[in-house]
Amino acid sequence: MSSTDNNNQTIRNASLEAQFTHVAHDAVDTRHHGAIHVPVYQNSLFAFETYEAFEQAFQSLMDNHIYSRGNNPTVDYLEKKLAALEGAERAKCFASGMGAISAAIMSCIGAGDHIVCVDQAYGPTREFLSEYLNRFGVETTFIDGRSIESWRAAARPNTKLLYLESPTTLHFQLQDLRACAAFARSIGARTIIDNTWATPLYQNPLALGVDLVVHSVTKYIGGHSDCVGGVVLGSRELVDAVGNKEYMLFGAIMTPQTAALVAKGLRTLPLRMQRHEASGMAVAEHVRSLPFVHQVNHPGMASHPQHELAASQMSGSSSLFSFRTSAPPATMKLWADKLQYFRIGVSWGGFESLVTVNAAGKQPEDGSIVRLYIGLESPQDLIGDIDQAAEALSLGAES
Ligand SMILES: *Cc1c(COP(=O)(O)O)cnc(C)c1O
Repeated sequence: MSSTDNNNQTIRNASLEAQFTHVAHDAVDTRHHGAIHVPVYQNSLFAFETYEAFEQAFQSLMDNHIYSRGNNPTVDYLEKKLAALEGAERAKCFASGMGAISAAIMSCIGAGDHIVCVDQAYGPTREFLSEYLNRFGVETTFIDGRSIESWRAAARPNTKLLYLESPTTLHFQLQDLRACAAFARSIGARTIIDNTWATPLYQNPLALGVDLVVHSVTKYIGGHSDCVGGVVLGSRELVDAVGNKEYMLFGAIMTPQTAALVAKGLRTLPLRMQRHEASGMAVAEHVRSLPFVHQVNHPGMASHPQHELAASQMSGSSSLFSFRTSAPPATMKLWADKLQYFRIGVSWGGFESLVTVNAAGKQPEDGSIVRLYIGLESPQDLIGDIDQAAEALSLGAES
């Protein structure tokens, strides 16, 4: 049973490389015949030798393999790896990022409670808070979130949760994680952060005092645009509470096949992130030099208004950023059509570069916010692609 008794205490002291290769006992496990990658346990249930052992297992649903809407060994393996990387006692994987987010939120609130949430949070998260939870008497106040004063001003006596997403993924604005966590503690509220952009490699909010971290592992962690999944991380107490209730009762479980795919993605996460970070910075610097671009939103750039905060709470940057142009969305959509390497599509975190065009305001003259995701292609090819598309449309200096 060596793969289930992993000890995070010893792992946190291991090198990053060791964490990716050896956490959760990748060392030869005789149960798996030395299989070098985690096998897919394609089982709904697990049988017991004695009735006593069966009843014993029910003492701790999240620690024993009883049923796969609970604890499947392949998913369990991924959860232990993710927990070690994020510096968490526990992780619970879900069918999607939204499965993880809605479960984590539900675990923190009840009827009549109030939530404060950053207004640039992921769209479906905002919809869940503003529309869905309203039906149950839970109210959410959305705020800019860049200053700690805005959180203080929005809090009420019944505020039970501060929901953070830093950076946000269109405007790339940050919240001060240490200050938000300390404030939440002072009013007896919990904090959840969507840490998808930074990945566990570049930001560890639990170490800064945040209670629960969520990721869409669909993005960088999976890394190959081949599966959808999510994870909730934090203390044993809080994550087991999510596992025993929202995970078991809503049933948005990660399948063992997805867990094996994500675990395969994890093996190259440090390598991929190094490349994404360097290419993202190179392309962002180039974009900033283009005459039709008047602002680049990338927390890793010294020109970002919160760059100092970024450097104080993140150890690196990923490769999703946006730029502002006065060219109307219709023009920038034609520009996107001319791109050859960048594909037009939602999501990000895979090998392929992507582009989306958003209106910066209500009128076409307000211009556009173009979001670029820099994949694993050569940055020189991507820069050349951006330039040829601009030349084809004669996108020159701003009119
Ligand atoms: C994609 C995404 C989500 C949702 O994840 P799914 O896996 O698509 O459910 C949540 N937050 C952020 C920042 C995302 O980019």
